[in-house]
Amino acid sequence: MKQVGIIGWRGMVGSVLLQRMIEENDFKDISAHFFSTSNSGSLGPVIDGVEFILKDAYAIHALAEMDIIITCQGGDYTKDIYPALLEHGWDGYWIDAASALRMDDRACIILDPVNRAIIDRAVNAGVKLFVGGNCSITLSLMGLAGLIQSNLIEWMSVMTYQSASGAGAQYVRELIAQSYYLSGKLSPDELENSGSVLPLVNKVSALINSEGMPTENFGAPLMGSIIPWIDSDLGDGNSREEWKGEAETNKILGLAERTIPVNGLCVRVGVIRCHSAAITLKLKRDVSESEFQALVTRSHPWVNYVPNNKAASMSQLTPAHISGSLSVGVGRYKKMSLNHEPIYSVLTVGDQLLWGAAEPLRRMLNILLKRI
Ligand code: NAP
Repeated sequence: MKQVGIIGWRGMVGSVLLQRMIEENDFKDISAHFFSTSNSGSLGPVIDGVEFILKDAYAIHALAEMDIIITCQGGDYTKDIYPALLEHGWDGYWIDAASALRMDDRACIILDPVNRAIIDRAVNAGVKLFVGGNCSITLSLMGLAGLIQSNLIEWMSVMTYQSASGAGAQYVRELIAQSYYLSGKLSPDELENSGSVLPLVNKVSALINSEGMPTENFGAPLMGSIIPWIDSDLGDGNSREEWKGEAETNKILGLAERTIPVNGLCVRVGVIRCHSAAITLKLKRDVSESEFQALVTRSHPWVNYVPNNKAASMSQLTPAHISGSLSVGVGRYKKMSLNHEPIYSVLTVGDQLLWGAAEPLRRMLNILLKRI
């Protein structure tokens, strides 16, 4: 049995990874070892009645005993440990959720429903570094795989609405704490629907900007607001999250020569789980709604096409409905009235912790287990 090390198992991505591996019975085919950067020697997860004691995630000799390492710990950990392991002579497989090594020449970005042929070629060529893609890009590509495979996209503008859990466990706790802080300052009388609502709106607006509002992690209020910047500032008007859009899309699709231009704005919204993206698509020709539906639903089993009407959109195309589901919602498809060009809008909504993070990692593990 292959020795598989799992790091970051209690974080946002790692806990969903563990849940999915248990659901799919993945632990029966591996000898699992759990590591921690903060709590080695303590009791880790209990799986099928087996108690795992946590190993030290910084102990290179212990990591080097693994055939495969899956890490959801974050970029700083990857930058520290991966080079040290290689230096130590380790030649196992590294499967990573962090962005640190995605654009590294040695790395293959994994999203098998979209780029399985590229993954298979990489395994055959001896690639040992497999990295999950950026969550927003991954979900948009899952939703639009049928258009991509038919080579119909000329360019894309992607406006994202990204959830708090996309930033990690501490951040989603902070969003909930912000909500708790605001509710705790209001009396039932103030919420009564009588008289002018303005005093209530003014009080909550002041509370959102008050010193007591917990903003230690995000650095700004998110409850009742948005944060129009995600990841670092590249200094050219783009955030690093926005830069990833084009770079990763084209790497995932293996389009070195004829790249698809992708640009947009990435915005954090007060959603608990699920990233949405309002995408403007310039297509190479007109594509009717029925053809679009056929293309996106035939490409793989994890797309739910939502007809472009109010009732269906409000019930099926929301983070509240899609959270926890492997199905990516694709809807609001309509032609835009821009010079009669084949320019369309579409909204994708998907669980960024599943297809946007954990699912490609566990599927890569299973691809490797069948091949090595
Ligand atoms: P996270 O929730 O912050 O977890 C990362 C680590 O933080 C945990 O493994 C844990 O390590 C430590 N930690 C400290 N305090 C914690 C607490 N109160 N609860 C849980 N863990 C705590 O990060 P993440 O969102 O899972 O992201 C991990 C990596 O995946 C990042 O590189 C991220 O960019 C990437 N990613 C995230 C998403 C997403 O939707 N969140 C999507 C795609 C990719 P120890 O147990 O060792 O202390």
